[in-house]
Amino acid sequence: MKNIYSPHSGPPLLYGSWIEGSLINSAGPKTTIYNPFDRTPIGQVPELNDELVNEAISQAHLCFTEWKKSTGHSRAKLLRAIAAALRLEEDLLAQTITLEQGKPLIEARAEVAYSAAYLDWFAGEAERIRGEILDGPDSTGSIQIRFEPVGVAALITPWNFPLAMITRKAAAAWAAGCSVVCKPAPETPFTALRFAAIATASGLPAGALQIITGDAPRIGDLLLSSPLVRKLSFTGSTAIGKLLMAKAAQRMIRPTLELGGNAPFIVWDDADLEQAARDGAAAKFRNSGQTCISVNRFFVHRSFVEPVVKLLSEQAEKLRPGNGFDPETTLGPLTQPNRHNILNNLVNDALSSGATCSFGTLTDPAQSIMPPIILTDITDTMRITKEELFGPVCSILVFDEDEEVITRANASPAGLIAYVYTSSAKRLEWASQNLEAGMIGLNQTRLSLVHAPFGGIKESGIGREGHSMGMREYQNVKYCSG
Ligand code: ADP
Repeated sequence: MKNIYSPHSGPPLLYGSWIEGSLINSAGPKTTIYNPFDRTPIGQVPELNDELVNEAISQAHLCFTEWKKSTGHSRAKLLRAIAAALRLEEDLLAQTITLEQGKPLIEARAEVAYSAAYLDWFAGEAERIRGEILDGPDSTGSIQIRFEPVGVAALITPWNFPLAMITRKAAAAWAAGCSVVCKPAPETPFTALRFAAIATASGLPAGALQIITGDAPRIGDLLLSSPLVRKLSFTGSTAIGKLLMAKAAQRMIRPTLELGGNAPFIVWDDADLEQAARDGAAAKFRNSGQTCISVNRFFVHRSFVEPVVKLLSEQAEKLRPGNGFDPETTLGPLTQPNRHNILNNLVNDALSSGATCSFGTLTDPAQSIMPPIILTDITDTMRITKEELFGPVCSILVFDEDEEVITRANASPAGLIAYVYTSSAKRLEWASQNLEAGMIGLNQTRLSLVHAPFGGIKESGIGREGHSMGMREYQNVKYCSG
């Protein structure tokens, strides 16, 4: 299909869906994709009809029936080849990410490296797939435990990491021996399509990665009602996660869900303030605050509010908002056009309830870029404290006592991640025992590592990605005795 719009100046894009190892197109409606920076159209992908979606699922299943017989060793070689190819194509992939998602090119490059690392990591896991044999209680026989691939995995992914959110799921699924049908976010299909093309050119069997585009609820229904799909892995909002889990329950499809967070970042009076402000700003402003592990609530000890706000403001001052393709840019546009307006409303709501704007100012919601804002005098009951911000707005809350701050930090249905800054080993230990989160950063914020189990508790999700647990999500346990 030809791009119906005048060619943009970015990287070459693949206009279509990816089925059975090739780019395909279909007649009928299309989704237009926009550059989030200037909102110009960059291309279209098809809205696949039910027949084509079902066909993609069937072919993924056909691929699985063969691929499940392959050895972990051979899949490991393939995963490493794909990782190497991603690194070779870093320019093309990073430019595609920046074009459709908006993040600064340097962050897009880091995402490519991070994505390749998942393929390498799970290559290692594929090589180590092994069962167990235990003695039984008597002569009736031993207990054998095997780990087998679940089958076709449905991946539904978000736009904030258009490549990494696919690779960390797909690499785990492939390592286990599953085939994958992926529905990328409607905002960012082109990175997914490029990834599929690179993986296919590296030797991925046709059908092991289908990229299907189109109407999300309809595709979600088709995937979760298909008898051929045995696994769901979803990253996105808690509301959609709950909806998909309810649908998956109808067929007992195993879910892995990475949902929203409401990350507290606690700065005690004995913390290294400079480091806390530097790390806090990085964890707040990276990807313009559009990540589920972005800081949502800064809890600062009363005695240090002023210096922390000053240090955070200095960090915010250094940011260079702009086009992600500009090498100077460190804060790209908001990916979704309505986000600026949603954030302005949250800020206004807080201001009208007594908050103070200590840095920055509200800007025209029609603009794609939202410069950073720091709000103080925030209380636990304001909407801004309860909702996941997904934008470059810092909310500063004040605390006095240890018990108090942990109770307030835990007072959220979300439990994805928490950050703790203190020089007291006792407080670190105590906070890590008492904070309700799947991940806790102790004087550091870089927790998204391939080696580590990424995931949340409470309403932030079920299951883990990365680590060896990531592959287990795609394996059935079979116990044989005799
Ligand atoms: P966001 O609001 O940030 O886009 P969502 O949770 O709505 O977060 O979207 C995450 C992913 O879930 C995207 O790929 C989106 O298309 C998909 N999605 C949204 N609604 C549904 C649905 N009803 N069924 C299946 N997938 C959905």
